[in-house]
Amino acid sequence: MDLDKLIRERIRDVDDYPKPGVVFKDITPLLADHVAFAGVVDTIVNHHGRGTIDKIVGIEARGFIIAAPVAYHFGAGFVPVRKKGKLPSRTHEETYDLEYGTETIEMHVDAFGPGDRVLIVDDVLATGGTAKAAVDLVRRGGGEVAGISVLIELSFLRGREQLGNVDVHSLVTV
Ligand code: AMP
Repeated sequence: MDLDKLIRERIRDVDDYPKPGVVFKDITPLLADHVAFAGVVDTIVNHHGRGTIDKIVGIEARGFIIAAPVAYHFGAGFVPVRKKGKLPSRTHEETYDLEYGTETIEMHVDAFGPGDRVLIVDDVLATGGTAKAAVDLVRRGGGEVAGISVLIELSFLRGREQLGNVDVHSLVTV
């Protein structure tokens, strides 16, 4: 079966979650299908090529699920970016705007070695606020942003425009 078609079929749209007007991209059917899940991981690794990346940054929470096997298959380390207050040691933090209010994410200050090439991984690129904050955290931590891979890009929200010349790779564009 065509991998692209399989991946699309395994993403479930949930209307009005978590609030009215939002169509939530539920990836749990995809994660439960080992062919689709492995296909996502392999596609991300093949896009960049083994040996080109030192660290994979996963964004809490669904980003972790995709980023960890990507790191393993790259032969790269894994670094978590988490919501404020979850990481135990010293952190850099970035705050960005949401539709209502703000969000703050953090990363440990010592997550990278000098010049580490870093790939950021998340499930969905929507407005781009989260991805932009993650790019800024990586740069503050001394990493070099090699790119961003997302499973799903909501192109009508134009998140990629927030990310300047960072290479944005999405498997499914809506
Ligand atoms: P944004 O900062 O607007 O690009 O939002 C990206 C973050 O919010 C990602 O970490 C996603 O997990 C989550 N997100 C935003 N919109 C959706 C959506 N429609 N379905 C699932 N997750 C979403």
